[in-house]
Amino acid sequence: MRLLIMGPPGAGKGTQAAVIGEYYGIPAISTGNIFRLAITNRTDLGERIKRIIADGGYVPDSLTLKVVVQRLEEEDTKGGWLLDGFPRTLGQVKALDKELEAHGFTLDAVISLTADEEAIVRRMLKRAEIEGRPDDNEETIRNRLEVYHEQTDPLLEVYRERGLLLEVDGMGEVSEVTQRVLTALAQRIGD
Ligand code: ADP
Repeated sequence: MRLLIMGPPGAGKGTQAAVIGEYYGIPAISTGNIFRLAITNRTDLGERIKRIIADGGYVPDSLTLKVVVQRLEEEDTKGGWLLDGFPRTLGQVKALDKELEAHGFTLDAVISLTADEEAIVRRMLKRAEIEGRPDDNEETIRNRLEVYHEQTDPLLEVYRERGLLLEVDGMGEVSEVTQRVLTALAQRIGD
């Protein structure tokens, strides 16, 4: 099974991706996590992107694509995957299409988590206190939302037109949202 999960920053993609990946026995691959790890480990990539991430901008497609292609070559991806936070730009959609085609794969569904923006900002500010993510301050959060709407909103239309989009309400308890996602997926692709 090959899935994408999309949604504005703070909509709870990462949390849901982990649970859904586990449920289907496929790795949940988060570009945000890969980037944060690179920053923590002070790799070359990490040094190149830390400023961008701290400001809430997008990492250039060229770097992002390298990371994703490399990750998708790993052994645990053979039976499928759930991509969290990728693609985020139309360029990334194109590149993913090519990558899928090269392997004869298709996407099964694209989960779009929807959320109320003011609630998102509150949730992220709370997360900032707990996790201390450097990109979770109000200014960066607003910037990430703006960049998301500008660059990533159009992707929803692309996947809607392809008949792949599953819109799921991301507000409420984590377990409620998980249930909604699993129900929507089961209806779409069978359990
Ligand atoms: P969130 O969705 O809450 O912003 P993520 O962990 O998905 O959190 O991403 C954190 C940051 O990592 C983004 O703000 C962006 O700077 C960078 N990033 C993650 N995925 C991508 C991507 N596909 N393309 C460009 N930048 C990305």
